[in-house]
Amino acid sequence: MNAPRTILIFVDGLGLGLDDPAINPIHSGCCPVLERLLKEESVPVDARLGVKGLPQSATGQAALLTGVNAPAAVGRHVEGLPGPELRKIVQAHNLFLKLKERGYRSTFANAYHTDDVEEVRGRRRQSVTTVASLAAFGGVRKTGDMLVNRAVYQDLSREFLRSRGYDGPLVSPRESAAHLLAIAADHDFTLFEYFQTDLMAHKGTPDDVRRVLSRLDEFLEGLLAWPNEPGHLLLLTSDHGNIEDSRTKVHTENPVPLVAVGEGAEVMKAGVKSLTYFVPTLLELYPQKKLET
Ligand SMILES: [Zn+2]
Repeated sequence: MNAPRTILIFVDGLGLGLDDPAINPIHSGCCPVLERLLKEESVPVDARLGVKGLPQSATGQAALLTGVNAPAAVGRHVEGLPGPELRKIVQAHNLFLKLKERGYRSTFANAYHTDDVEEVRGRRRQSVTTVASLAAFGGVRKTGDMLVNRAVYQDLSREFLRSRGYDGPLVSPRESAAHLLAIAADHDFTLFEYFQTDLMAHKGTPDDVRRVLSRLDEFLEGLLAWPNEPGHLLLLTSDHGNIEDSRTKVHTENPVPLVAVGEGAEVMKAGVKSLTYFVPTLLELYPQKKLET
């Protein structure tokens, strides 16, 4: 079997919760594609990782993208963005590097609103995905890439960038999906990160929450044809629960979903029991390539 071409949609703050639409906005009708994927194509994944307290983003994302039990390594679940200790773990063990070592091309498809990689490298606040991309690729996708549709902005529309001086075209989530598919066609593994879900679950109104879920849904709908192609795999997962329980503004201890459709989906669904299993299980699908002689 050849290694698949994989798209991973990382959705921040998406757990598997109750079926009750009064509590779980995913069942309120605003995101039918996501709702169906969670129901029919996903398995539950533990995000607590044996460490007390609510699962958090910095440690959860580090665990997901390295396979290292990051909260156990630093002794607690760490919120927000990674500090020096977590950055070191991500720099040394991230999935992009592991794929590269095995001879595969991977990429982080998110657009950064800058034309200067050094500016990104110098940022005091860096996401796990930023740290991993800088370590593995020495760079990120920039404004110039986005303007030729070779990068996808995190809000799926670029509207947020208007407040940052961007005067280029806006795009629909559906167009963002098409741009992601074109990037994924040139890579063995492509990651896209969507964090409006966690942000709005913390700070937004119920309408805000439904709006970001609906936007995500339009994007996912545009990706559904991907796993129908032979050798293609579509994955979606998260770092911790949040948006699935409207009774609370903080994270939940719910399992997160691993959605897997296409080539290798069964391997992923059978293997990924907790966030730390994601990398080792995915790597089963990407055996070391023989060196060219
Ligand atoms: Zn959060």
